Formats: sequence, structure tokens, C-alpha cells
Amino acid sequence: MKLKEIQFNDWIIELDLHKTGQYYTEHDIKDDCSCNACNNYRVNCEYMSSELMHFFHRFRIDPRKEGEFMNIGLNDNGEVHYMGFYHIVGVIKIGPTKITDKWNHMNLIKIDNYEFAFGSDNIACVPEDFPIPILQLEFSSSIPWRIEEKYE
Ligand SMILES: [Zn+2]
Repeated sequence: MKLKEIQFNDWIIELDLHKTGQYYTEHDIKDDCSCNACNNYRVNCEYMSSELMHFFHRFRIDPRKEGEFMNIGLNDNGEVHYMGFYHIVGVIKIGPTKITDKWNHMNLIKIDNYEFAFGSDNIACVPEDFPIPILQLEFSSSIPWRIEEKYE
């Protein structure tokens, strides 16, 4: 395994960019959830800034392909709050590995309307064909409802 070490805020992580990239390239969106909330999330990916796209690309993640996109509800501006994660082939060398109860107190990575953290203690919803070792890029974001179907 050829690993690349990258530092983000409090984390130093080692990534297998080749294997991660291969997974996201080969994975078929048709295999992901097709509910309205997930579809809306994917449509919003077309509106991401180049900085945000660049961030995802550093991991070789295609942001339209889940992990998990969870619709949390509407915020005061009528935007939809999502939380979720993407899987990455790699390990956390230094930094928090569990984020669930500490989300708001962590030194989160902030880009546009996204907040990110890494975790490896609660890996979930892993596709059968995803290579190991696995860490999760966790996110929280509020984005518009852009699709024709009504928000439920
Ligand atoms: Zn869905």
C-alpha cells in the first residue's frame, strides 16, 4: 500500500489515494440511495465552489457518491441540513478517531457551507467492495432544496 500523509487541523492521516480514487471512479451512482433528499444532495454537488471540489478531490472522493447523506431537517433559512460521511482508504495517524459526541467542540475543517472531521471508530454503511483500511470523512452542511419534488 502506497500511502500519502496529509495534515488537516488536528489530524494527520495516511491515505491510499489510488485505491480510493479507483473505488469512486468505478462505483455506480445507481447503487446509491435514490430518495429525494439524496437526489437533492447530489444536485447540489453541481453547485460546489472550486475550493470545495478541490478539497474532495484531494481524497479522490466523488462527492455525489455516498457513504451516507442524512437529511436532518430545515434550518431557519429554509435550507436543508445534512450530515453524513464518505469512506476513504486510509488511517488516522494522529488526531481524534471518534467524533459523534464532540462534533461541535472539535477543530473542524470549514469550507463554504461545509464542516468536516475525520473518524475511524464508527465506520458504517460500508459498501461490500470498499478496500480496507477505512476512515470516514464526516460532514455537516446546510444546502438549498433545488429539485422539483417537494421537500418532505
Ligand atoms: Zn436517500
